Amino acid sequence: MENKTYRKCQNCGTVNLNRDYCQECGEIVNIILKRKIERENKALERERIEKQKEPNKVTVFFERAKTHPNIIVRSLALFFYSTWVIVLAIGSFFALLFGYIAA
Ligand SMILES: [Zn+2]
Repeated sequence: MENKTYRKCQNCGTVNLNRDYCQECGEIVNIILKRKIERENKALERERIEKQKEPNKVTVFFERAKTHPNIIVRSLALFFYSTWVIVLAIGSFFALLFGYIAA
């Protein structure tokens, strides 16, 4: 049995047989593929925005303190920084947990 998939192009109206892209204009006619690409683009966009975000002020503060010339300040900074990282980790864990409960 042959598997024939006819897809009508949303752009120019050409009916394409077993094609993901329109043979006339090159538009994506495979809606599943289109959604997949859109999803991937959105994920990329999110990642880009995430990277553009300013680093957390507390994190920046500790980053600076960690390179402080005074060893006591450095040790203290490292200690509090570790605590801060743990707090952040727990925070994101709870966020994830509540996300699951809400969903
Ligand atoms: Zn087309």
